[in-house]
Amino acid sequence: MAAPKKINHIGIAVHDIEAAAKFYTENLGLALGGIEEVADQKVKVAFLPVGEVRLELVQPTSPDSPIAKFLEKNGSGIHHIAYEVADVAAEVNRLMAEGVKMVDEKPRVGAHNSLIAFIHPKASGGLLTEIVQPQDHH
Ligand code: ZN
Repeated sequence: MAAPKKINHIGIAVHDIEAAAKFYTENLGLALGGIEEVADQKVKVAFLPVGEVRLELVQPTSPDSPIAKFLEKNGSGIHHIAYEVADVAAEVNRLMAEGVKMVDEKPRVGAHNSLIAFIHPKASGGLLTEIVQPQDHH
C-alpha cells in the first residue's frame, strides 16, 4: 500500500460559485486559478490554490447533479477531501479487495484531465473521500 503523500484538494459545495470565489479572492487574498465545467458531474468548479493544496468550489449546473442533492441535504460546506495517489486504478482495486465501499469501482476522468475515484462516505465515517492521480504537470 502506498499512503497518499498529500492532500490534492478540498471540495467545497456552494450555491453560488461567483459569490463564494469573491470571498476567497477579495477577502482571503487567494488567486482564482480558473473555473471549469465538468459536464459529466453537472458541476462548475473554481480552483483556488493554497500552497500545494487547492480549494475547489463546486456548484451544481443542474438540479439532478449529485452536488445539488448534497446541498439540499447538508447545505454548503466541505463536500470531500481528495488525496493524491500515484496509481488510482491500483488503489481502487486494493480498497475493493479490502471490502471498502466505493462510489466508483473504476477510475474516471475528473477536472484537469486527472483520474479520480470516490470512496463512499460510509467507509470513512461520513465524509466523501476522493483519490486523485494528476495527469497534467504544470
Ligand atoms: Zn474533487
